[in-house]
Amino acid sequence: MDLSFTPEEQAFREEIRAWVHANLPADISHKVHNALRLSRDDLQRWARILGKKGWLGYAWPQQFGGPGWNAVQKHLFEEECAMAGAPRIIPFGPVMVAPVIMAFGNAEQQQRFLPGIASGDVWWSQGYSEPGSGSDLASVKTRAERKTLPGRGDVYIVNGQKTWTTLGQYGEWIFCLVRTNTEGKPQAGISFLLIDMKSPGVSVRPIVLLDGEAEVNEVFFDNVEVPAENLIGEENKGWTYAKHLLSHERTNIADVNRSKRELERLKRIAKAEGVYEDLRFRDEIARLEVDIVALEMLVLRVLSAEKSGKNSLDIAGLLKIRGSEIQQRYSELMMLAAGPYSLPFIEEAMEAGWQGDFPGGLAANAPLASTYFNLRKTTIYGGSNEVQRNIVAQTVLS
Ligand SMILES: Cc1cc2nc3c(=O)[nH]c(=O)nc-3n(C[C@H](O)[C@H](O)[C@H](O)COP(=O)(O)OP(=O)(O)OC[C@H]3O[C@@H](n4cnc5c(N)ncnc54)[C@H](O)[C@@H]3O)c2cc1C
Repeated sequence: MDLSFTPEEQAFREEIRAWVHANLPADISHKVHNALRLSRDDLQRWARILGKKGWLGYAWPQQFGGPGWNAVQKHLFEEECAMAGAPRIIPFGPVMVAPVIMAFGNAEQQQRFLPGIASGDVWWSQGYSEPGSGSDLASVKTRAERKTLPGRGDVYIVNGQKTWTTLGQYGEWIFCLVRTNTEGKPQAGISFLLIDMKSPGVSVRPIVLLDGEAEVNEVFFDNVEVPAENLIGEENKGWTYAKHLLSHERTNIADVNRSKRELERLKRIAKAEGVYEDLRFRDEIARLEVDIVALEMLVLRVLSAEKSGKNSLDIAGLLKIRGSEIQQRYSELMMLAAGPYSLPFIEEAMEAGWQGDFPGGLAANAPLASTYFNLRKTTIYGGSNEVQRNIVAQTVLS
């Protein structure tokens, strides 16, 4: 196993670095480096810049308009974007539903949906979870009944509710797991449906979280008419497609590159607060750094295996567990470094340029509490860490 980069790979890294440097808007990278609030416009502006270059679908094969990069090139691209302060690519379109459409959609669906995802023009949401169906996803109850309507052909009538829909307030399309059969094993009665969120009967209600942000939503479907041509693959085979997507989601969630960038920010905060020289605090930073390097090695091992043609996605759960714990830990250490100055929870401080009255401390520390609260989510979403441990026990350790 060779974990070092070849001269060609180093040159590729330089090329990406130069392009990102020249094209990433400074106001966006300022917000990312300081964990400030990113608007819809910020996220979509960057997505469209990448889309124009053909890199929003950076993991896509050339056949579908992607650059056709290998696993190492994809990793280098992700790392360079993260270190430069680019926002995370919102994964629901390019990382989640696109691979499903490529693998299981028909040619017409591929032509209809992939261009809007690749360009960053169409915002997708993920409609998997429901009240009572999170870890036990196969129990989804949102019902889709197939009917033939005069003049409108075959449609599904969808009724039910999704929840925890990330950034669903911006969603234009949503991919949903819906129940099309109630008999037999629950997994055998699920279908994968693409729903236009502008359809009559779809409504979105925000859920305000600990950090005061409405990052997630409830989405309700009340007799929503969905053309049958929006069904991916075969009816009642949706569980297979859903699992294909989840393996992509969990590898993506590990996000080691973001942790590397945030480690540097932690050091900056510790220096500004005068605790960097405190040996006990330095121990904590060192321990975190060792864990980040170890996670990076794990990611590189996966890449190395992929390069030599071995399938390693069965450790996606492991990457998710470690990656999410690390994300929580750096936010805890940032709070500790800033001490009492990080404690006031001032939501407005998430806005770039905020100059509010901050009692006694550095205003730069004001957004820390929001980030700390926000990152509690990481051990829950994308499949909770407890459930990931069960999967790792069954698939890796047994
Ligand atoms: C911020 C955020 C964003 C999200 N975004 C989306 C999204 O965009 N789209 C979407 O579809 N979903 C989304 N989710 C939902 C997410 O996938 C679920 O929250 C997650 O799968 C857990 O399901 P649950 O919330 O129903 O908890 P439950 O499944 O009810 O679990 C409750 C607790 O029980 C534990 N538990 C459950 N089963 C087991 C078991 N077998 N063994 C051991 N422990 C167990 C869990 O670990 C957890 O601690 C999001 C969630 C969050 C928090």
